[in-house]
Amino acid sequence: MDGKAGEKRALTGNEAIARGFYEAGGVVASSYPGSPTVEILEKTKVYEEIYGEFSTNEKVALEVGIGGSFSGARAMVSMKHVGVNIAADPLMTFTLTPTNGGFLLVTGDDPGLASSQNEQDNRVLGKFAHLGILDPSDSQEAKDYTKKALEISEHFEIPMLLRITSRLCHSRSVVVLEDRQEVKSKGINRSKEKFCMIPPGSRRAQMFMKERLQKLEEYAYDTELNTLEEKQGSDTLLITSGLVYYNLKEVEPEASIWKLGLVYPISKKRAKEITSQYKRIIVIEEMMPFIENELKLMGIECEGKKYFEYTGELDVPDIEEGLYQAGLLKNKPEGSKRFVETVSRPPLFCTGCPHRPTFDILKKSKAKVVVGDIGCYSLAALFPFEQSNSIISMGASIGMTKGIRKAMSLTKEEEPLVTVIGDGTFFHSGLPTFVNLLHQKKDNENMTFIVLDNRTTAMTGGQHNGSSGLYNERDDMRVGIKTLLETMGFDRIKEINQYDYKAAEKLFKEEIAYEGLSIIVVNGPCALRYNLEKPYFYVDPKICISCRACIRTNCPPLRMIEYEGIEKLKSSIDKDMCVGCSVCAQVCPVNAIKSSKASEKEGE
Ligand code: SF4
Ligand code: SF4
Repeated sequence: MDGKAGEKRALTGNEAIARGFYEAGGVVASSYPGSPTVEILEKTKVYEEIYGEFSTNEKVALEVGIGGSFSGARAMVSMKHVGVNIAADPLMTFTLTPTNGGFLLVTGDDPGLASSQNEQDNRVLGKFAHLGILDPSDSQEAKDYTKKALEISEHFEIPMLLRITSRLCHSRSVVVLEDRQEVKSKGINRSKEKFCMIPPGSRRAQMFMKERLQKLEEYAYDTELNTLEEKQGSDTLLITSGLVYYNLKEVEPEASIWKLGLVYPISKKRAKEITSQYKRIIVIEEMMPFIENELKLMGIECEGKKYFEYTGELDVPDIEEGLYQAGLLKNKPEGSKRFVETVSRPPLFCTGCPHRPTFDILKKSKAKVVVGDIGCYSLAALFPFEQSNSIISMGASIGMTKGIRKAMSLTKEEEPLVTVIGDGTFFHSGLPTFVNLLHQKKDNENMTFIVLDNRTTAMTGGQHNGSSGLYNERDDMRVGIKTLLETMGFDRIKEINQYDYKAAEKLFKEEIAYEGLSIIVVNGPCALRYNLEKPYFYVDPKICISCRACIRTNCPPLRMIEYEGIEKLKSSIDKDMCVGCSVCAQVCPVNAIKSSKASEKEGE
């Protein structure tokens, strides 16, 4: 992003963080794509002063970032909240070591589960890992805190966590740009005692880690990151942080507000000084009672979750309701949300999505147990396909299938198991679980693994992954999944074009019936990422028998309509939406669906 010092821009929280890292003289940035933070790395990568990569998973991304800091440069690693669980192994030891170059981990928490499998409050994880935690309230703060976090990290030699929530990641507010400040690399610190975490050095490091947090708590006493807004005559103090601050301000409460930018550690001395001036202390925060618990641990009496939900976002009406319950608002709020209600749209596979035929075939195959995984194919759990009996976390389907199979074998249940996993998930964490399948493998264990290889991380907007280079010559990752699995030692692997409906249907039937472990790699380019756009298809209403087989594939351009002079409803295709994948034509029993290209030729 261009922009000179002093210019004002309306940036999303994600864009502001990327800009902040650039201005702070950041050098190494890594991530794994996941909503709500995926744009941070995308925007960071545009600066040529920064090396940026989407790594194969969050643990690897963190390791790349740790390497950047170890080299003496400023590093930033961004991921969605559940990604920090994947990265937790190196993180818990990294926080024992001092940072060399400034280090920032950005976590995108998702109150309300807008696009996640769970809702977790990573302030808790941050404290568990002994990180200092900053919680910005708008895009300007997101940028400023990114820079501040790197400074603090270098000054106190502590890795920092910037916790941002979905709404802030994606909403825009005005940000004043500044120039980049080049920060000279400190060079690699070769101190084994500091950076080799083996006893007895690691025991000493634990003490050092605690000392650093104590120093950061002293810094928190009068940091400008925390602000007190005093209301004359008020005996109530409201304590808050993050985006909730602006929602609270809209309510215009008759109370003082202590806004925390540095939410961990909180200065005990400062907290006692401020809270002792008030009769009532109420903490307003999304998700866990994090600040509330910190204050209670200090012996400060306060309320909070008594009036506010543990889950979801705290919008203005939620805050009004909570403050009314607490007796701080005299009039009962109207109760209705002030926001304009939007028309709800059921989640749907995209037009021409290569996964659609796979799940249509699975639905017809009557496979009773389909173990699903994380990716856009999670949509198969919903109507109309309803072909996923479980979705837990990235790559979990493979290990779970083994557990289900082993248990069923002992109880003599013979139901065939079908498992789906996308290519992004396969490279993220599916690989070790595939290796594990070879351990104590029995020939008669019926498991069919379908690897959906659309060669992109589609759900988050089409970032690359291990096999993207097979479609995109500018991408240097060209790992063939079938070859890789063969090299591992799997001996029954079939490959099929996802759009070849009839051939895929036959193959699925054979492999599901096969008494043993088989793998099908289904190839088909993501229709959005690779701009699949072939000549459109159309319906000849005179041939159509209204059987609705095409409609049941659920491709958005298809619908039943009235044609002039024809009594019954017949199928029709919106040609502007159709990307010409041909799947509907393949399921039509009477060849009523034709390619516009073929008919052009016929007319020639
Ligand atoms: S050819 Fe049929 S299935 Fe494929 S995009 Fe067009 S309408 Fe959808
Ligand atoms: S599958 Fe063929 S016959 Fe059946 S509704 Fe669609 S176009 Fe008509």
